[in-house]
Amino acid sequence: MKRILLLQTGGTIAMQIRRNEDGAMDNLPSDSLKKHIPELSEIAQIQCLDLFFKDSSDLSPSDWVVLARAIESNYQQFDGFVVLHGTDTMAYTASALSFCFKHLAKPVIFTGSQVPLSVIRSDAGRNLINAVQMATLPFCEVAICFNDKILRGNRSTKMSIGDFTAFTSPNHPPLAEIGIDIHVKHALRPGGSAMECYPVFSEELMVLRLFPGIKPSRYISLLNDNTRAVIISGYGSGNFPVSGEHSLLPFLEACLERNIFMVMASQAVFDAVDLEKYSSGRMARERGVISAGDMTMEAAITKMMFLLGRYSSPYQIRDAYMRSLRGELTIR
Ligand code: ASP
Repeated sequence: MKRILLLQTGGTIAMQIRRNEDGAMDNLPSDSLKKHIPELSEIAQIQCLDLFFKDSSDLSPSDWVVLARAIESNYQQFDGFVVLHGTDTMAYTASALSFCFKHLAKPVIFTGSQVPLSVIRSDAGRNLINAVQMATLPFCEVAICFNDKILRGNRSTKMSIGDFTAFTSPNHPPLAEIGIDIHVKHALRPGGSAMECYPVFSEELMVLRLFPGIKPSRYISLLNDNTRAVIISGYGSGNFPVSGEHSLLPFLEACLERNIFMVMASQAVFDAVDLEKYSSGRMARERGVISAGDMTMEAAITKMMFLLGRYSSPYQIRDAYMRSLRGELTIR
């Protein structure tokens, strides 16, 4: 029987419906999951590790490091890993972890639920059973297992607060479909080398979301020595205003002067940024802006956090950002 490590980080799946004296919901220790869902022990030999019980909005890169290190230090002893995680920032954590594991040869499957396990009609049991089953397969990706779909972690985004289908993978097909059987269709192949783990993330970046009426020059004063990259969430193919007080160009020039990496992403979730299509995109390119292509915002941000943490050479960061490191980007 395959050996699976179940790592608890918190979120709705870890909440008890019973409230404690403060009125907050109690946490559900992972070991009791096996009692709630006895079928789990028919699928695999499961060991639980409670790392933390946090709402995922409270998780930060230092928690990603703890999680990555826990997987790294147990890597040889287990065949696969299941991470229980709140849905709100699951796509960020899954993306971040995908970047820090190089030559991953075992499954790392994130799951959670929209409704606590202890509530009738919870989706927790099904998600967890699917995730554990998936973690027993020869599959070498960091993935999200939710509502009968397996999505590449760094291609996923939370799209629904109230629906059981909480996640979508707008620019990549599901890696596997779960029906009567599990069919893996699009997964990455394992690399030949041993797994390496680089859990290093820099928070020295800023995200600027455009909106009609924004005066981007106001944000120049926010750039400082701790700003090494700016990710701009522009419109459509990567467009932005170029005239008058709403022009983004002075902001881009201020970044260029300070040697800050500039990435253009899009508020549209499907398809890819194309900085050749319109004149604003071409003006951005002339000022050194690089495209986020078809990456999710979560991948665009965590990839930059990882690269800023991993490398100091601007050339290496820029070059690696434009390549697909873990299947997060379609190279056209
Ligand atoms: N607020 C919760 C969290 O992300 C939501 C969930 O788990 O679905 O931790």
